[in-house]
Amino acid sequence: MLPFSLVYHDGFYLPLGAHVFPGEKYRLVHERLLTTGAAAESDFIRPQTIALEDVLRVHERGYVERLIDGTLSEEEILQMELPYSKALVDATLLGCGGTLEAARLALRNGAACCLGGGFHHAHPDHGEGFCILHDVAIALARLLHDRAIERAMVIDLDVHDGNGTAAIFPPAGEHRRGSLQYGVASGSMMPSTEGVFTLSMHHQNNYPAYKPPSSLDVPLADGTDDAEYMEALEHALDAAFAHFRPQLIAYVAGADPYVEDKLGGLALTIDGLKQRDRTVFRAAQSVGAPVFSVYAGGYAMRVEDTVTIHANTVLAAAEVFSFHGATSC
Ligand SMILES: [Zn+2]
Repeated sequence: MLPFSLVYHDGFYLPLGAHVFPGEKYRLVHERLLTTGAAAESDFIRPQTIALEDVLRVHERGYVERLIDGTLSEEEILQMELPYSKALVDATLLGCGGTLEAARLALRNGAACCLGGGFHHAHPDHGEGFCILHDVAIALARLLHDRAIERAMVIDLDVHDGNGTAAIFPPAGEHRRGSLQYGVASGSMMPSTEGVFTLSMHHQNNYPAYKPPSSLDVPLADGTDDAEYMEALEHALDAAFAHFRPQLIAYVAGADPYVEDKLGGLALTIDGLKQRDRTVFRAAQSVGAPVFSVYAGGYAMRVEDTVTIHANTVLAAAEVFSFHGATSC
């Protein structure tokens, strides 16, 4: 049995038809963890769909109503880059519920992994880049509202910049540009007024074209490999924790920094990505902050590789938290 819970529901499946986003990946990761014995049925918690009032703490009412009623404009649907359906909206609402459940479990037990979520490109008034509602922001906004936490950090290691997160939680303070060299951080190093510190380490020459400032941005060059990535990550985590001590960490563990990703541009191996996951979990443990992970993107040539990378996030958490136990503030 794992020393933390996994959050999963068959309803996470995104009905996208033929699409670069493998909508079945959540089910495949669930199956992989069970068939390999990495997890048991008793490790899983089934979430409930998110409440509308939680969604509306982050998203504009008009947009949410159009999304639910099926009255989005053609332009809004094009910007989502997903085939609109009521089933897609329901799956996303359930995914948001999963992320909130994982955040609560992390606060209770020190760690949790959600086998879904990470819709980090969603903005308050529109969806984009395969994301229609921002699950992580919705979960954090709810916990901040409940005063369950006052300070949270989002560590976003998807290959694409976390533009929605930065738009929802814009950092206070003056944005300081780092040097123009890749791998050099920039940002105000301050949280948003709500108390959310955003760290985005991403491939610079990639979607989205406009990258709003995070508290800390770490742009990476084309073809960044495992060693270069790990060095940048360790510096970024050290810098972030030197400036901010979160009471909860949301880890956006995108599988798309992988060398064989169709929408990537970095050159991480499967082992390198697992090392990345371990590093984040260890860092969370070392500052005594509960952490939960969500999946975000993953578009490997072979869907099995995406599944392996996502399953490894759970294995990495198990390695880190089995030896020393999950910590809690
Ligand atoms: Zn991505």
